[in-house]
Amino acid sequence: MKRARIPEPYKIKMVEHIRLLPPEARRQAIQEAGYNTFLFRSEDVFIDLLTDSGTSAMSDRQWSALMVGDEAYAGARSFYRLEEAVREIYGFPYLVPTHQGRAAEHITAQLRIKPGQFVPMNMYFTTTREHLERAGGVFFDCIIDEAHDPQARHPFKGNVDLEKLDRLVREHGPDSIAFLWLAPCVNMAGGQPFSMANLREVARWAKDQNIPIILDATRAVENCYFIKVREEGYEDKPIKEIPLEMMSYAESITMSAKKDNLVNIGGFIATRNQDFFQAARATVVVFEGLHTYGGLAGRDMEAMAVGMREMVDDAYIESRVEQVQRFGQALLEAGIPIVEPVGGHAVFIDAKRFLPHLSQDVFPAQALAAEIYLEGGVRSMERGVVSAGRDPKTGKHRYPKLELVRLTIPRRVYTDSHLAYVVDVCRGVYERRDGIRGLEMVYEPPQLRFFQARFQPL
Ligand SMILES: *Cc1c(COP(=O)(O)O)cnc(C)c1O
Repeated sequence: MKRARIPEPYKIKMVEHIRLLPPEARRQAIQEAGYNTFLFRSEDVFIDLLTDSGTSAMSDRQWSALMVGDEAYAGARSFYRLEEAVREIYGFPYLVPTHQGRAAEHITAQLRIKPGQFVPMNMYFTTTREHLERAGGVFFDCIIDEAHDPQARHPFKGNVDLEKLDRLVREHGPDSIAFLWLAPCVNMAGGQPFSMANLREVARWAKDQNIPIILDATRAVENCYFIKVREEGYEDKPIKEIPLEMMSYAESITMSAKKDNLVNIGGFIATRNQDFFQAARATVVVFEGLHTYGGLAGRDMEAMAVGMREMVDDAYIESRVEQVQRFGQALLEAGIPIVEPVGGHAVFIDAKRFLPHLSQDVFPAQALAAEIYLEGGVRSMERGVVSAGRDPKTGKHRYPKLELVRLTIPRRVYTDSHLAYVVDVCRGVYERRDGIRGLEMVYEPPQLRFFQARFQPL
């Protein structure tokens, strides 16, 4: 007999009711939101796949850890507990907490980038690129070409192309590079992992050039799960050992704890570079708070320390990533064009193939996200020309190759039957795709425009 699939390694202790608005109310809600899913009231949403950021369900142990938070302004016990967890799980001796990931990015960019320096990244992330450009840095994409092709089935589409880095160094010299800012499970490429072999090779190269590696470790553990199941030599390792090896190649990390770490708010910088640590501590007090809380409550740090240990439980991480894989498989079986292979935290619908009659000038992914809401109250997010923003030099739209709608799965929140419903909703939209029209942008904020831009149907 075939072994039954192992179910989620937890059971449900508390529930939150959700409701599906009738079609007319959904039409009104999307109009009021300016056809931007970031501008909904969450009450108007039935299944919320906007993001996996800060939307995880905490465990009973995390909730009880909140009660023992030490809210001392300075030197809180909760800080030292978090520091200990960071040492154990990530292997960095020095910790600077921040209220969330972008604050860690802001401090890192301000301290580590000289105006005009390049910062190579494997593709880009919205807030990371914003902060590196604010610090006067120049973004350089060093991801392999396959990452820009939604149908290329490379198992590690987050890999760095060393050729591209070599060319940059040949043209401008190693001193023109501030550091490599690499992300595991590259969000904008569809949640695509890099391999340990690739990181090892990049680290060897970077050491020769004397260029530090800073990882955006937000989804490092989900990447480690892919290494475990796809890369030779890791299949028998407990998941807990893999992040330690990954981090050993990095000088520092910036981190949004709202993802892997299973909490609703939090972030940090962790490093083995004592000078950077000193400087970050001195800077965090200006923007965030004292260096032993950095914009967090003591209880937030307690919940993070517990979440960090839960995320490296083998049964948990398998259940997490495999749920996303099954969801992607079901969408494929329904004929929906998605980015392959399926990533670790989300499934990305390929809006270019879904709506081939719409040009990127009329924001096909933005339009598709609106239609998915209208069809069944499901909230998703645009990751295409709106998210890519404008080129700071020319002021023109950046036209990314990928024009995607992201269906992001919060951790431990939805069951497979919620996701089966979402597949039906997507199928419904796909059946009437020829009648879907584009949008025009009627309001555009000066930065990170995707959060607040407003649209009208054409
Ligand atoms: C979410 C995220 C960030 C920013 O973190 P916040 O906590 O939202 O400020 C940075 N990098 C990546 C890869 C992310 O997914």
